[in-house]
Amino acid sequence: MLVAYKYRLYPNKEQQIYFAKCFGCVRFIYNRMLSDKIEHYKETKQRLNNTPAQYKKEFPWLKEVDSLALANAQMNLQTAYNNFFKRPEVGFPKFKSKKSHKYSYTTNNQGGNIYVSDRYIKLPKIGLIRIKKHRDFEGLIKSVAVSQKPSGKYYVSVLVECDEIEKLPKSESEIGIDLGLKDFAILSNEEKIANPKYLSKSELKLRKLQKDLSRCQKGSKNRNKCRIKVAKQHEKIVNQRKDFLNNLSKRLICENQTICLEDLKIKEMMSNKQISKSVADVSWSEFVRQLEYKAQWYEREIIEISTWFPSSQTCSCCGYINKRIKDTNIREWICPNCNVHHDRDINAAINILNEGLRIRTAGTVEIA
Ligand SMILES: [Zn+2]
Repeated sequence: MLVAYKYRLYPNKEQQIYFAKCFGCVRFIYNRMLSDKIEHYKETKQRLNNTPAQYKKEFPWLKEVDSLALANAQMNLQTAYNNFFKRPEVGFPKFKSKKSHKYSYTTNNQGGNIYVSDRYIKLPKIGLIRIKKHRDFEGLIKSVAVSQKPSGKYYVSVLVECDEIEKLPKSESEIGIDLGLKDFAILSNEEKIANPKYLSKSELKLRKLQKDLSRCQKGSKNRNKCRIKVAKQHEKIVNQRKDFLNNLSKRLICENQTICLEDLKIKEMMSNKQISKSVADVSWSEFVRQLEYKAQWYEREIIEISTWFPSSQTCSCCGYINKRIKDTNIREWICPNCNVHHDRDINAAINILNEGLRIRTAGTVEIA
């Protein structure tokens, strides 16, 4: 299934000049090839099969732009021209007017020469361009169309080959998730999902590189090298984390019909004083975001516990509230009321599940 995702583009001055060239070259080659085709047809009543390559000698500036953009112009023209032969009464294809103020060119992904990150899209011949990525996609990029509207605004339409969203069979399973610092996630079925080791290794390396950078003299060549190393390592971490979260969210969505979570805003406030918070925050919110959109795709239910629900302090067996457990150093405890032994985080995850199911039946559920 092919799906197009459209984003606003923010090219800088230099990139705007390049785009103007692309739009111009595409229009030029289209019109030029069309007029030669028409000429040829009028003289011989035969089709002319011309290609952009044939024009590059006479018009060397065509080489300055993406050759795939020219190839796509040729393909569009060919389609229009073939239609003319099928139904001559419609006449020759029309020339592209400069005055339309609607400009575009299309290029193709070949071996990963196009990719989209959080803030940029990489395009052949021009590199990274700022993008406003308001939504994610998964799948292989086939082609990209860059356009400029009469308003002067730039857009990019990314055509993606997505897997047909295979409908998942309904699951009977419901799960509560407690997001943690020591472990990334603790499930109400007693599974603990650790933060991946490669991630902490990469973070350690990043800290070392940042130290190196701070030692470099400002404005020196070395400093620039260090800066690039830091940026690359940072990007690596972002991608590693995304991968980990993608796999985990996919798995949890597959396995469970209903997922109960704590409201993150409250969670973040409560973990205010704790270390490595910033890292956890980024992962938590990204994880919830992924769960939410996957839940939509696969028709699963996400329930957020949006109250000050004391998930850690409540005994999941008898409901007794143990204020002492506010102390986050207590990892295990025995309920003074019913004597059940609790792992702090698993108990919290079970409470989150129970609370989620309770508010759902109470009819106050928020389905994200
Ligand atoms: Zn109890």
